[in-house]
Amino acid sequence: MDLSSNIALVQSKIAAAALAAGRSPAEITLCAATKVQSDDTIRQAIAAGIAVCGENRVQELTAHLAADAYAGAREVHFIGHLQTNKVKQVVGKVDLIQSVDSLHLLQAIHTQADKLGIVQDILLEVNIGGEESKSGCSPELLPELVEQAGQLPHIRLRGLMAIPPISAAPGANRRYFAQMRQLFIDITQKMSDNQSVMDCLSMGMSADYEDAIAEGATLVRVGTALFGPRPPMAHR
Ligand SMILES: *Cc1c(COP(=O)(O)O)cnc(C)c1O
Repeated sequence: MDLSSNIALVQSKIAAAALAAGRSPAEITLCAATKVQSDDTIRQAIAAGIAVCGENRVQELTAHLAADAYAGAREVHFIGHLQTNKVKQVVGKVDLIQSVDSLHLLQAIHTQADKLGIVQDILLEVNIGGEESKSGCSPELLPELVEQAGQLPHIRLRGLMAIPPISAAPGANRRYFAQMRQLFIDITQKMSDNQSVMDCLSMGMSADYEDAIAEGATLVRVGTALFGPRPPMAHR
């Protein structure tokens, strides 16, 4: 496995997918999903051109921050399920929390951001496949969360994130990506507060990021295609 060439390959596939969809490659951000990777691997990825790292678990985030493993990265994002009792370890430590999916969590993040005197950028995560095992709010609950986010001065809503079902066949998730794009458009048009900047639609992983780009993703979260297969692990 050669990390640099994997990164170059994914970047060129992202550019090709963007151009094929009539979009500029500059519109799409590659977020490296760094879960289970070591400090050194993260440093190598950044040296090889990764600008945005996405962390899935609070414990790993905290350890990498302590080791200064993200030095040189433009942004660090939190992309995993976040429990309210752990918001202190994440708010103000990352540039974007992608995985906000309940009123309770929204308010907990707001309280902590208020304490720190900062505005925390977030995405709302949508369970677009309606899977019981997955985090994310239902599309029906989304307007209420958007409305609430707009009323919290220490929260800045930047867009939406989704993890569709594991695709059974190539192209199988395109309809979910298309539904997400429609939700993104609907919500952007309805935004009434002047704090939100809806510029991020985070969807697409190693198996389907090109399809996600074809359907309007502005950020793709890629792990395996950059770092190789992860050891099998329960509940990530
Ligand atoms: C691990 C992870 C990814 C990347 O998954 P791959 O299939 O390895 O590319 C994307 N998003 C989230 C939230 C993840 O936890």
